[in-house]
Amino acid sequence: MKYLSTRGGMAPQSFSDILLEGLAPDGGLALPESIPTIDEATLESWRSLSYAELATRILTLFIDDIPPADLDRLTHAAYRAEVFGSQAIVPLKPLRNGMTLLGLSEGPTLAFKDMAMQFLGQAFEYVLDKRGATLNILGATSGDTGSAAEYALRGKRGVSVFMLSPHGRMSSFQRAQMYTLQDANIHNIAVKGVFDECQDIVKAIAGDLAFKSQYHIGAVNSINWARIAAQIVYYFWGWLRATSGPGQQVSFAVPSGNFGNILAGHFARQMGLPIRRLVLATNENNVLEEFFRTGVYRPRPAAHTHATSSPSMDISRASNFERFVFDLLDRDPARVRACWDALADKGEFDLGEMRPLFESRYGFVAGVSTHADRLETIRAVHQDSGVLIDPHTADGVKVAAEYMEPGIPMLVLETALPAKFGDTILEATGKPAPLPEALRNLDELPQRVVLMACDAGQMRDYIRQHAPVAA
Ligand SMILES: *Cc1c(COP(=O)(O)O)cnc(C)c1O
Repeated sequence: MKYLSTRGGMAPQSFSDILLEGLAPDGGLALPESIPTIDEATLESWRSLSYAELATRILTLFIDDIPPADLDRLTHAAYRAEVFGSQAIVPLKPLRNGMTLLGLSEGPTLAFKDMAMQFLGQAFEYVLDKRGATLNILGATSGDTGSAAEYALRGKRGVSVFMLSPHGRMSSFQRAQMYTLQDANIHNIAVKGVFDECQDIVKAIAGDLAFKSQYHIGAVNSINWARIAAQIVYYFWGWLRATSGPGQQVSFAVPSGNFGNILAGHFARQMGLPIRRLVLATNENNVLEEFFRTGVYRPRPAAHTHATSSPSMDISRASNFERFVFDLLDRDPARVRACWDALADKGEFDLGEMRPLFESRYGFVAGVSTHADRLETIRAVHQDSGVLIDPHTADGVKVAAEYMEPGIPMLVLETALPAKFGDTILEATGKPAPLPEALRNLDELPQRVVLMACDAGQMRDYIRQHAPVAA
């Protein structure tokens, strides 16, 4: 399996090559040259597999430069009961309203990003070991991605993490989660600025090509193909658990921001998994909902991106969306380039003439959830089912309700646990969300963080002093 770019300007590459790269050299995103398909008999034969075994079966279809036995070791190291709380790894939790939650947030940071990151951590270590190489992951975070990356990469050979976060602007829970890590290869840097300024420092350093190659700077952002591949697995898992025989259809509802999570569902469907609908839920930042309703893709400037109570979906530009557009335009890179040229020119592009295909060919439908919807949904689900859901998952449940059909199971992807977003839970239910046992004393543990001015030069110096020297 080779990988190509959505813009058509990259020589075919292997999985291990694109694993360590961000954008393709032509500015596009890496994609498999063809989508493998799974027939009914194979799918049925997977019913008794554990999560890790299923992950091996699916990931071998996309990864042919890691021997299957080694890949199996990596998936078993990533998807362990000790890391995800139970043998199931991803439990299904039925609600009384006819929906079922797909429990993706049982990992160390209580959000679904652990599902892909835990595999990525294993894959990075493996590939760097093989190549005798080192990698310094540089990133900016306002919460979920940074912590998932740190928990996945802590203590891993060959890789260090330099994670910038805005000083004083994360919840005390988020700070404690990241800053209490004492591993020597994890560097938390609290920048005196806002998230966008952290991001600017990362861009300045990653754009300094000489520095980038000298210090082997890499990224784990949401455009990484390996993250998408790892996320495909849980759509199969959810389908296998929610059905009892071949051909039965299931719909999935996905709280969406950068379009990474639901893109994995799109690939699962293209691979032949009987998915009826992919229900995309946005919050007040409804750029993607607008696209699926009108065919016009019009990202908002940062100044027009609302800060909402489902903050991990406060995205203006959906970084993975280009991969879906590539399929929509029959995998023609020239047409993708034309869209992104129009975007650069006019700030939008219009695929309105393709609108009938969104649902009929690809199963996509969409809806919006607001702060009031979120509170009402958290309250209603708690009252009816006795289950507390987080604000992002609540957006998924709210929109899923608009697309329920008799006889078709609706699986809502649980993208975080409520403990992470205590304020909104308190506002909705009048009570704070209970913290998992293991995290109750997190606040009291010593924190390890470096406070730094908002200055790319200082950050460069810090990396020079702390990056391991390549062999
Ligand atoms: C990242 C995140 C999302 C959005 O997922 P995308 O893959 O960016 O669409 C939704 N909910 C939570 C809790 C997240 O952390």
